[in-house]
Amino acid sequence: MDILICGGGNAAHTLAGLLAAQAGQAVRIFLSLPEEARRWQSGLAEQGGIRVRLPEGEVYGRPQAASADPAEVVPGAGLALLALPAFAHEDVLRQIAPYLSAGAWVGALPARGGFDFCAHDALGLSARHVSIFGLQTLPWACRIEEYGRSARVLGAKAEVDLAARPAAHAADIAAELSRLLGLRVTPGANFLSLTLAGTGQIIHPGIQYGLFHHWDGSPYSEAPLFYQGVTPEIASLLQAMSDEVQSLRHALESRAPGLELETVRPLGEWLQRAYGDDIADPSSLERAFVSNRAYAGLRAPMRPVPGGLAPDFQARYLSEDVPYALLATRGVAELVQVPTPWIDRVISWAQQQLGREYLSGGRLQGKDLSASRAPQRYGCRSLETLLAADRYTYPA
Ligand code: NAD
Repeated sequence: MDILICGGGNAAHTLAGLLAAQAGQAVRIFLSLPEEARRWQSGLAEQGGIRVRLPEGEVYGRPQAASADPAEVVPGAGLALLALPAFAHEDVLRQIAPYLSAGAWVGALPARGGFDFCAHDALGLSARHVSIFGLQTLPWACRIEEYGRSARVLGAKAEVDLAARPAAHAADIAAELSRLLGLRVTPGANFLSLTLAGTGQIIHPGIQYGLFHHWDGSPYSEAPLFYQGVTPEIASLLQAMSDEVQSLRHALESRAPGLELETVRPLGEWLQRAYGDDIADPSSLERAFVSNRAYAGLRAPMRPVPGGLAPDFQARYLSEDVPYALLATRGVAELVQVPTPWIDRVISWAQQQLGREYLSGGRLQGKDLSASRAPQRYGCRSLETLLAADRYTYPA
């Protein structure tokens, strides 16, 4: 199958090397930023391919082409993978849409919240003849080593959830991705569960709020520990946000019997499943964060300022996790009329730091809602619209 990778960052380098290394795969790269296309082209011309260092060894794959012109790389692709930050999904989907073949599978890793709304809207007419899918998370922690030439995988997940639309195509897409990515890709029930189950939307904005909402503007001499900086108070906030998502899950399950949301897990349960033995002391949520070896030493994103460091509120913990994840969940809560006072408190603080307005007067009607994935942004004004057959229970 011809594979298109959209993006030129850490995830795209890793995918390009891993997939092109497999026999019989024709891999092409679409880079909407021309300068990146030029750097990929010179890397491929000089080195011939992308080297990926894995914990268990090294692979080397030769993509066929890299281009900023979608007409050169999109036609004929059976699988299009968006390996991009969520804020780039919409633009890139609009650029590739006219060149997508009927029957192509188009998906994002990770999808973040509301990817199905975004893709349906951005693909326009093409959405009628392609399948859309999303993965709950990127399967790897990975970094570029040398741009256009090499990347390194620091760690890999054993299993990742997938949702697709039409849902009937999820099993086929998951089976093919399991084979290509070399891990278990599990076909989940629906995109709504992907939107609600993302724990980054709780953990990242919640800890940022907890660490910095009382910040008085004085420079820090060093970046505070992020996950290990979770205090009992911050853990209570994270628990309260998680409880609100669980209330939303239960309200949806009672209003829409048959809607499968069992992958939307409480935060503590998710931590245990994701990190298990890495957590030395699971006796409380606070201890589970602080004693998690996988989180050890990771620090809050900061930027240099005169006299030291200041929190970097433009980093993705707010700029991606709030508009493209937490607001999608908050938007669903508004449709179901489930109150979310703690999530609202974090969004209200975050939007001030980002210089944006999403929530206004307690509703998602701020002037910047159009740069978010809240369902309201796509004209969805009722639970019935949200659950419309083609969105969550597409017929087999
Ligand atoms: P990255 O920062 O390396 O990706 C940046 C790339 O995105 C750029 O090189 C460019 O090709 C593209 N891009 C950026 N802005 C764009 C725009 N406006 N228009 C078009 N393209 C644009 O990100 P990554 O590390 O590859 O991660 C991709 C996604 O996976 C992100 O959502 C990230 O949060 C998530 N993620 C990454 C890791 C990791 O270890 N790298 C782990 C978990 C999740």
